[in-house]
Amino acid sequence: MSDCLFCKIINGEIPSSKVYEDDKVYAFNDIDPQAPVHFLVVPKTHIASALEIDDSNSDIVGHVFKVVAKLANEMGFGKAGYRIVNNCGKNGGQTVGHLHFHVLAGRNIGWPPG
Ligand code: AMP
Ligand code: ZN
Repeated sequence: MSDCLFCKIINGEIPSSKVYEDDKVYAFNDIDPQAPVHFLVVPKTHIASALEIDDSNSDIVGHVFKVVAKLANEMGFGKAGYRIVNNCGKNGGQTVGHLHFHVLAGRNIGWPPG
């Protein structure tokens, strides 16, 4: 999508600090980290939000969780634990209209959310 921040990050128009990439997803460090480890995993295909997930594109969700488990092992935060967050829509706190999953680790993240 031409006017989407994360599509521009995926195609390199806007720089990012890459954590991981494959044919389906791109992962990069959040510009405003909320934990010692805070990166975003985004599908390379533009999907506006979790509300748009259906039979045609739901495979990406399992792929994202699989990639995060691999990165958690490789980067060393898996055993201590981590949180995967998806904010959906206005009340969910979504500010960028391209589906993304936050990965937060490196401290006790706390619960419940504010
Ligand atoms: P959300 O509020 O769930 O939509 O999350 C959007 C996230 O994108 C926020 O945590 C922002 O800090 C992050 N963000 C915004 N612009 C950039 C950027 N250029 N590079 C990396 N992360 C960004
Ligand atoms: Zn996009």
